[in-house]
Amino acid sequence: MFGSIPGYEGTVSGEGAAPQPKWSVSQISEAEARAALCDYVSSKCCYSNEPARESVITDMESFHTYRYRLETFTESRSTAWAEEPFTGQRVDAFTQPAPAPWDVHVKAPPMFQDSKTTVEVPHTSSVKPCPPCVGMGRHPCKDCSSTGRKMCWSCSGSGFPQGSQCLQCNGSGRISCTQCGGSGSKDCKKCGGKGQLLICIKLTVKWTNNLEDYVQEQSSGLQVEKLKKVSGKQLFRDAQFLVYPVMGFPDPAMAQAAERLIRDHQSRLSKTGRILQQRQTIELVPITKVSYKWKEGFYTYFVYGTENAVKAEDYPATCCCCTVI
Ligand SMILES: [Zn+2]
Ligand SMILES: [Zn+2]
Ligand SMILES: [Zn+2]
Repeated sequence: MFGSIPGYEGTVSGEGAAPQPKWSVSQISEAEARAALCDYVSSKCCYSNEPARESVITDMESFHTYRYRLETFTESRSTAWAEEPFTGQRVDAFTQPAPAPWDVHVKAPPMFQDSKTTVEVPHTSSVKPCPPCVGMGRHPCKDCSSTGRKMCWSCSGSGFPQGSQCLQCNGSGRISCTQCGGSGSKDCKKCGGKGQLLICIKLTVKWTNNLEDYVQEQSSGLQVEKLKKVSGKQLFRDAQFLVYPVMGFPDPAMAQAAERLIRDHQSRLSKTGRILQQRQTIELVPITKVSYKWKEGFYTYFVYGTENAVKAEDYPATCCCCTVI
């Protein structure tokens, strides 16, 4: 009664187990390992590239590891009263009941991208007189005590210093107040001189991608911290409203970590907002420990991530001045 869909051949009706992902391993070649070290050395201005080019690689060991990543995309909403100068905006309070915060329609951004927006809640806006200026739109000018004129700075108010008429005030001893343009009052900043404020409830909607990683322990000697900055090969990817713990993963510690993260995200994040979607991925992060010999000395370096990032702590020629040619 059901058709056949490629990749779902074993699917039965009712509750069926999802197809299991394949956990494969990739390995870099000696030439790639050397090229990665040469690139690394050339990015350091005073490293000599001679050991990178001419050393003898004696051993390459693989220490691949897995990174489980859980992303939970949430939406949270908060409301606050807001006010702005009234310049003739539409006023709609009490015409209809205001919708509840989660009933206001707001367009969501693409999934798993942080974003924020603020909108006015419909049917909450009204107009009130501006409190600081009591609806007048203006405040008295303090600089000129509302007279619009001040003592002339040039003649100190005498009008005729040393017997001749002051050119600044034409002998009046007073000049127009520059603070208020001579009007004796200034526009109210709160209402922009309009005397009225539009008040309404603003809804702030915030979308957050909550991301957490778990990296499997490995014994190469490379710190887990280093692995945060590199990518791996994606082996498994699953996105849905609420994800289920991944099944069939070879490492039980990883399966447990995934289960713990999912449980934590679903209980914690549903308290502060709504979960819109979850995504879980498993990446294989390649790590190769390369041992090499250079001028009777033995050294090691790591090549890791799909970018072939390098960590070479004991590189033998870190300053060109010290290099023996
Ligand atoms: Zn003034
Ligand atoms: Zn004057
Ligand atoms: Zn005002």
